[in-house]
Amino acid sequence: MRLGWRRGFTYHCKAFASRGTFRVEAHRSPPMHTPQGFTPSHVLPTAIPAGALAFAFRDTKLLVGGPEDTPIVPELARVESLQIGEAVHYLGELDGTACVAVLLRDDAPEPEGWRYAGLRSLFFRLPEPLLAIAARAFQVIEWDRTHRYCGRCGTPTRDKPGERAKECPACGQIAYPRVSPAMMVLITRGRDVLLARAPRFPPGMYSALAGFVEPGETIEDCIRREVREEVGIEVGNITYFASQSWAFPHSLMIAYTAEYAGGELKVDESEIAEARWFAWDAVPDLPPSISISRRLIESTVARLAGESARS
Ligand SMILES: [Zn+2]
Repeated sequence: MRLGWRRGFTYHCKAFASRGTFRVEAHRSPPMHTPQGFTPSHVLPTAIPAGALAFAFRDTKLLVGGPEDTPIVPELARVESLQIGEAVHYLGELDGTACVAVLLRDDAPEPEGWRYAGLRSLFFRLPEPLLAIAARAFQVIEWDRTHRYCGRCGTPTRDKPGERAKECPACGQIAYPRVSPAMMVLITRGRDVLLARAPRFPPGMYSALAGFVEPGETIEDCIRREVREEVGIEVGNITYFASQSWAFPHSLMIAYTAEYAGGELKVDESEIAEARWFAWDAVPDLPPSISISRRLIESTVARLAGESARS
């Protein structure tokens, strides 16, 4: 069993060296949320300060500098000097420093001393507030990249003033950044938890069940349907746990616990490699601590351990 969050670890961020360090309460503030000290805004100021942090993406990768283990995010002036940007979206201010998302050209070169890095490779390296803003920027850029033309009539779209939206000048169709709700559920049966392996998981790693909400469904509907489809059982006592923004590509993961209410385990092999009940004190390898699934499982296992100790 692998319990135990790293509590209250301190990040030092080079880009903000003059402002001191960020202290991140890991057990209170899950990764991929709106960071403390961040004021979101979509209204581009008339003049963006040259010192604004630029979260600049070429395709799906972020422009970063500095050492491999302690990457830094460039200032906008540096990205502008490269003349490789196509679009800029204002994101807001982090502790008074403006933050922008920049869409780079697909053929943007790699400036000397800088590199393009996938967001996942920056987990535990980029300070958490910057990682969360990078994930936010990624979703805005992805939306910009995929909504250049009206989905209804094909006319090139333009940014709608005053909103994070694109509008079609011909037919008036408006497109907002997409957020796709998905549920995650950890099912308990007595002091056992149901964990499953997707075929893409590293060997030995298990997690809670998850799936996207379909049109017409509540999240609770989605949980009951996905559980029935994926493992063939019924659940009850569905209880909200927490949510997490997940930028791959634009999900909102909404996590729940539920209790087993009947049926035999029968795995849908097109989606799941294996699903098993695990005793609370014999939980296998879990997803990395940045994911809400890890928090959901650890929190539930801690509750079951407490119940076990009291009985
Ligand atoms: Zn149109």
